[in-house]
Order: sequence, then structure tokens, then C-alpha cells
Amino acid sequence: MRACDDDPEGREHGIPTYPWRQVPRGYATKRQLAALGLRPGSRQPVMQALCRGGRRVAFFYAISDALPKRVPTLAQEEALDRAMAARQTCPHCRVRYPYCLPLRTVGSCAPCADSGGLAQAA
Ligand SMILES: [Zn+2]
Repeated sequence: MRACDDDPEGREHGIPTYPWRQVPRGYATKRQLAALGLRPGSRQPVMQALCRGGRRVAFFYAISDALPKRVPTLAQEEALDRAMAARQTCPHCRVRYPYCLPLRTVGSCAPCADSGGLAQAA
């Protein structure tokens, strides 16, 4: 650890800076917040931690300022489903598969491709 990594008042770095693993309780990274079902409430991180001799920086947010993760609205869910339906539905036989079809390269589902592009329904 370098002495300049230990800068709780942010004199050197602009924001409070701690050596890796010495960040005070009550603060978490974005990923740690997400694991708690939270997202950063403030735009800016309130402190940072340095590791690997300052070559890696992790930004920390106050857990008390964090907000609940947004839940998509029904309209957003529906839009997502429409987008997925377009990628999962064969344009020839209109069957929707539980996975995305190779529409750009093959242009249809496997049965339609195997039958020479003629839909089974035809
Ligand atoms: Zn098909």
C-alpha cells in the first residue's frame, strides 16, 4: 500500500480515498448495490478505493443514498416481448420458438430451411 492511497479527506484525489478493503461500512460499489436490489442514488460516487498500486480504482456510493432498482413498466415489458417475438418467429411458418432464429443468415426456422424455404403449413 502506498501512503497516498490513504486519503480519507480527499486532499490529494478530490474525493475521499481509501486503500482497498479499508473502505468504511455503509458504502458499496454499483455491483454491490445491485446485489442488494439498489442503484446509486447520487450521480457521483462519494469515495474511491485504490488497489494494485493505484492502477485499479473502485467507486463507492453511500448505501443510505441508494434508491431501489427500477422495475420495468408493463409497457416496457410488452415492448421487450414484441422485440423478442420478432427475433423468435419464423416468417415462413409463423411458429414462435423459445430462442432467437438465424433470420439474418438463414431467414427461417430450421424445418423451413431444411424443406428448401417452403413452409410446412403450405
Ligand atoms: Zn418456419
